[in-house]
Amino acid sequence: MPKISFITLGCKLNYAETSTYERALAQKGFVCVDWRQKADFCLINTCTVTEHSDHKCRNIIKKIARQNPDCKIVVTGCYAALAADDIAAIPGVVGVFKAGEKHKVAAFIEGLTGGEGGKVAGCTGGAYDGRGACKGGEGEAEALKTIFPAYSSGERTRSFLKVQDGCDNYCTYCTVPFARGHSRSITIAQAVAQAQAIAAEGIKEIVLTGVNTGDFGKHPENVDEVLGPGTESPCSPSETFLDLLKALNDVEGIERYRISSIEPNLISDEIVDWIAQGTKILPHFHIPLQSGSDEILREMGRHYDTAFFEKKIEYIRSRIGNHVFFGIDVIVGFPGETDELFNTTYDFLCRIRPAFIHIFPYSRRRGTVADLRKDQVQDIIKTYRVAKLEELCKTLHEEFIEKNRDRSCDVLYEGRGRSGMMQGYTDNYLLHEAPYEASLIGKIVRIDKL
Ligand code: SF4
Repeated sequence: MPKISFITLGCKLNYAETSTYERALAQKGFVCVDWRQKADFCLINTCTVTEHSDHKCRNIIKKIARQNPDCKIVVTGCYAALAADDIAAIPGVVGVFKAGEKHKVAAFIEGLTGGEGGKVAGCTGGAYDGRGACKGGEGEAEALKTIFPAYSSGERTRSFLKVQDGCDNYCTYCTVPFARGHSRSITIAQAVAQAQAIAAEGIKEIVLTGVNTGDFGKHPENVDEVLGPGTESPCSPSETFLDLLKALNDVEGIERYRISSIEPNLISDEIVDWIAQGTKILPHFHIPLQSGSDEILREMGRHYDTAFFEKKIEYIRSRIGNHVFFGIDVIVGFPGETDELFNTTYDFLCRIRPAFIHIFPYSRRRGTVADLRKDQVQDIIKTYRVAKLEELCKTLHEEFIEKNRDRSCDVLYEGRGRSGMMQGYTDNYLLHEAPYEASLIGKIVRIDKL
């Protein structure tokens, strides 16, 4: 059977999608090999979150074409959605699939083995005829009608489950809505069915992923068609993110859920109150702040201010406890960010004291409002501000570890670390090590201290 390799760039969502392709093609008899090995096909799932990601994608496509001239390369993902023509022009590329065509990729590749040519609807000219790459239909409108359900497997302890895709926020620095389309999600029935499939693999922890995960509840027009006949899925627009959490909480075999990232204005007090009652949803929240300056938040087009954000953090701590791990996203060097405004962000972070800061230097993205601004910040200043926040992050993270050192909690052991010790993460996302015991890998164990 043909050999295929997979390369994933970018976020957890991309990993879930690639893993889903891998499962589907392995079931069709494809032999999945490492990307460094020679293969008949290579599927590359791309990212476009920064200018650097675009470069990386182009380079890896060209690298595969160079190292394996006979390999048929198929490209999907966010960079493919925004640069399909550029990618299609790279020798070796036989297919480029945008946000709305992701559920056609596996069939296209399978079609290429059958000597019938990779027939795919909406492909320019209708089929891959060996001349020039097949490009799927127009992205946005198509993307709204479909969602490509996905979850990752193959890891022993954790799986990324895609429950939502796309975004309607159009923050002024972001290209994701253009790359992934409008916000939409699978139904609760389908999320539960996938969680049960993950539990059947013996996996104990699920990370709920999406582009704007908390925006769960919007359904595409053909949910059943995507997941095939017989799947019970009443598309009820009234399904909310809290409904989803409650349904997943009852799935047998899954012991822990992490929410990969959630907008501050989408984690309602009602959700917090429910989690505080003692559920499988872990005390670990990754919440994008982006800036601690209200002026910059307005310029970014964000849907909250710092007062709202701080109140939300305080409420979660008051209801769930001070052991909650907050991972906060911050962009430094957004156009117009003066030293004074950066210091406002720095002081705000010192006040709310998260356990970790995910720091991103602002990256100009063609097609965004912020890219047109004249008051761009110099790279050297961005580098300085990144360093300042990295220093702060180190201090805050060490402080959080100290605060939780004597807390009794549960750890899910994942495997052997470089130290040779057994490693796993606590409920509030702290790394814990213990002498290696094979029988404990994949198990949730109570510990008295970190
Ligand atoms: S919320 Fe804003 S930053 Fe996040 S994906 Fe949507 S548009 Fe991009």
